[in-house]
Amino acid sequence: MKIRDLSLPLRGKCHCGAVRFEVNTNIKNSRRCNCSICSRKGFVMGTALLEELTITKGKEYLTSYKWNTKVAEHYFCKTCGIYTHHKRRSNPNQYGINIACLEGVDPYSYNKVPIGNGDLNAPLPDIPR
Ligand SMILES: [Zn+2]
Repeated sequence: MKIRDLSLPLRGKCHCGAVRFEVNTNIKNSRRCNCSICSRKGFVMGTALLEELTITKGKEYLTSYKWNTKVAEHYFCKTCGIYTHHKRRSNPNQYGINIACLEGVDPYSYNKVPIGNGDLNAPLPDIPR
């Protein structure tokens, strides 16, 4: 199922379930990113504003990784290692959300996903969901 077909809030979790979160928007602009970390993960992420994401359980299990400019912050579960979301370098008012962590979302239903240019920090046009 695609995100647009789900009711809000969207619920998500890491693999082991220690970290749980809710997203209060129908995440838009699903894409992959070609920056040095995202290209190694290969995940599909969607966009939410900072205030639209709430960690509902297991904040203490979240840890994060920063490098280079230290603006982007990639969060993942300390126990299972699953990346759940990250604060963007291209727009620090936004999170990228790992759509594969969302309940009811089939990440494989997004088989044609645009690729954002994270290395150039370029803004992306609005794309259909
Ligand atoms: Zn976990």
